[in-house]
Amino acid sequence: MTLPSSARTVIIGGGVIGCSIAYHLAREGRKDIVVLERSKLTSGTTWHAAGLVRRLRPSATLTKLINYSIDLYGELEVETGQATGWTQTGSLTLATNEDRLTNIKRQVSLGRAFGLEAEVVDAARAKELWPLIEVDDVIGAVWSPADGRVNPSDVALALSKGARARGVKIFEDTRVTGLQKKNGRISGVEIGEHVIETDEVVIASGLWSREVAEMAGAHMPLYACEHFYILTKPLAEVQALGKGAHLPTLNDQDAYLYARDDVEGLLVGSFEPHAKGISTKDLPADFSFDLLDEDWDHFMPMMENALRRIPALETAEVRMLLNGPESFTLDSQFMMGESPEVPGLFLLGGMNSTGIALAGGAGKAMAEWIIAGEPTMELNEADIRRFSPEMNVLGALEARIPEVLGRHYDNPYPGRSMDTARGQRRSPIHTGLVAAGARFEGRGGWERAVHFGGEAAHLPLTFDVPKWREHVAKEVEACRFGAAILDQSAFGKIKVQGPDACAFLNRLCAAEMDIKEGRIAYTQILNTRGGVESDLTVQRHGPETYLMIVGAGEVVRDMKRMRETKGDFRVEVTDVTSGYAVIGLAGAKARDVLQATSNAPLPDLKRFGFAPVEVGLARGWAGRLSFTGEEGYELYIPSDMAMAAHEALVAAGATHVGLYASGSLRIESGFRAIGHELTPGTSPQEAGLGAFCAFGTGFVGEEALAAADQPKRQIVSLLFDDPDALPIHDEPIYFSGKVVGQITSAAWSYRFDRSVALAMIDAPLDQLAQQDVVPGFEVEIACTRFTAKCSLKSAKEAF
Ligand SMILES: Cc1cc2nc3c(=O)[nH]c(=O)nc-3n(C[C@H](O)[C@H](O)[C@H](O)COP(=O)(O)OP(=O)(O)OC[C@H]3O[C@@H](n4cnc5c(N)ncnc54)[C@H](O)[C@@H]3O)c2cc1C
Repeated sequence: MTLPSSARTVIIGGGVIGCSIAYHLAREGRKDIVVLERSKLTSGTTWHAAGLVRRLRPSATLTKLINYSIDLYGELEVETGQATGWTQTGSLTLATNEDRLTNIKRQVSLGRAFGLEAEVVDAARAKELWPLIEVDDVIGAVWSPADGRVNPSDVALALSKGARARGVKIFEDTRVTGLQKKNGRISGVEIGEHVIETDEVVIASGLWSREVAEMAGAHMPLYACEHFYILTKPLAEVQALGKGAHLPTLNDQDAYLYARDDVEGLLVGSFEPHAKGISTKDLPADFSFDLLDEDWDHFMPMMENALRRIPALETAEVRMLLNGPESFTLDSQFMMGESPEVPGLFLLGGMNSTGIALAGGAGKAMAEWIIAGEPTMELNEADIRRFSPEMNVLGALEARIPEVLGRHYDNPYPGRSMDTARGQRRSPIHTGLVAAGARFEGRGGWERAVHFGGEAAHLPLTFDVPKWREHVAKEVEACRFGAAILDQSAFGKIKVQGPDACAFLNRLCAAEMDIKEGRIAYTQILNTRGGVESDLTVQRHGPETYLMIVGAGEVVRDMKRMRETKGDFRVEVTDVTSGYAVIGLAGAKARDVLQATSNAPLPDLKRFGFAPVEVGLARGWAGRLSFTGEEGYELYIPSDMAMAAHEALVAAGATHVGLYASGSLRIESGFRAIGHELTPGTSPQEAGLGAFCAFGTGFVGEEALAAADQPKRQIVSLLFDDPDALPIHDEPIYFSGKVVGQITSAAWSYRFDRSVALAMIDAPLDQLAQQDVVPGFEVEIACTRFTAKCSLKSAKEAF
């Protein structure tokens, strides 16, 4: 077979991911697909994976993708004649402390929201399920019967066979050496001197993907770590299980271990807390079916943990300590989508050690995305557009990625934040926040102040009542009755200028954008399906000049969508995020404090109006709106004057609040947030924002909304009855004994002294439409049900 000179789609990489994308594209009817593999199929990371597949994941999206994978892996043999080795062994997850038990029970509850059954069991039952383990310290466990394992290479080979049968051409020993672009769009793939012309390339090059993306000037922030497991020779204790019998997968996260039987012996792997990163530059250029050096010094602490848990290992002969590289991402979630920088260049990678489990579902989702031109399902958390180019900085990846592997088994406590690669993006008033005692979390590369109680009020992290609750109570009080500074400088700021600025924004945004100068519109950007892509405010500064204020993590996504929508509109779109600070000033005394910073008269602003202001020595402008629903302003100050404004506000008596306080107030006010209540799969009507859509202006998504039926689900407010209920996110909600939805945001309410939440539910919508408050809801948190009241109104109005 000779290399073609053109192709409809070129996929780079013949691991499980590339094979799955090829298979699914072909199955969707796409013709003329070429897969290019540098060495042999599976020769990168796929061949040596442990093959474990756990259905239950921390989110609906991931769980859905893996469930699809499992169904597919069970069926592929019939279709292709190649078995995948799918074996449903179940999995057993141990807890040796109360927090771990709470966490694994939370997962059981979460699973129920997705229809997955798992059972909380005691140590004796755990021992029955995994007879080789020591259970003296085990205080509980979860048995998930639907989990299992596959043979990774066989999965990839079955997918490649299925792809070939549908006409996909696969070229092994074919290394891509360059990518070509024409007018910014991908146009060709270089294999040495040979060029394949194409306007659609998919990077599925595993841990080499970052370098391959760079060939086209695109960012794909991932980095590899060494990942270890031991394999033993056959053990009498495993042989005693009987021929063909298998142990469930064992997860002992407190000891950083996983284990399964393997050819009558054992495979014991680890996500050790201090992992080792490895650069692709340290791998030989011809790395193929290769492994990294054994490192017993590094693995020994894990080995000691393993010996304690599985005493039979004492007499086992270790066949090998396998060390293979795998790529991880900054937030431990894989990435996929179309490159924000290069149209026609698609990416899927950074699988964070779940590539085998995810390959089926993620490959299908990627294929559908390529064909439809946008995601066909909820994929926000995996979307490449969450990463800005700054996050591809090598120093940040080198620092962060070992921590990501090291925290793979961490309990996901509220308030948890990574320690490495911090301080990359700091607010223009950062030093002022530090001086005020801020506790920061790293979010999307930014340092965000979450409260001002300092370190002492933050640690230790807990699923229980956090120490910061008392402190945040004071911040909430200040936000309502004082004058409280909330730093919102991480918000994206995008300038839109040009003769067609208004017409362009009316196409882009759902609300009417032909507003008066000095006014602010609240709106959403929708996709063609009518789902919410972005939630923003837009200021009109002149006949042809607007400023969009968008969510902190939304700039890359919004800029890409704006480029795609631009067409013939005569507009310039510029990201000016770094140019301005956004200082929220909320509370009953906000106006007095702002006035006290300067003798210049303070404009008398109507709600959603803005005008120039002087704040101490600084000059900027103020909008009358607030993120929390309390009375107040947002001050937009050029970055170089932001500290001067901050100093003046503090001197005039303003205090500080962080994101925990503002989050609690936001939820009480029923304000929807992007990534929580608002997602690309949620319509404005479902979110209760239908009134903000200006039908007739021709905005993207209008047709889909006009054709849609009455929403079948709605965002609602919940107030818990029991102050011991501490929801975090995603917990399942029951009504009349049935799961009717999940929590989308939750916080402690200082107004009600109980938790409040926003949630998406699908019943009983008629009753909610007629009754302000409907009691009788139950929310399951860590296997305990708590009662709650529900309303379509905000908690503040309803309860
Ligand atoms: C020790 C270990 C255990 C694991 N256990 C599990 C597990 O139990 N369950 C699970 O779900 N996951 C597991 N994983 C993770 C899983 O193996 C990976 O997520 C998955 O294999 C990634 O697949 P991929 O196709 O992205 O990468 P790869 O398999 O590495 O494929 C990428 C391919 O791209 C090719 N390529 C690179 N550059 C070029 C180029 N320039 N031109 C052409 N081709 C190129 C490479 O040769 C390679 O074959 C484990 C990983 C390790 C290391």
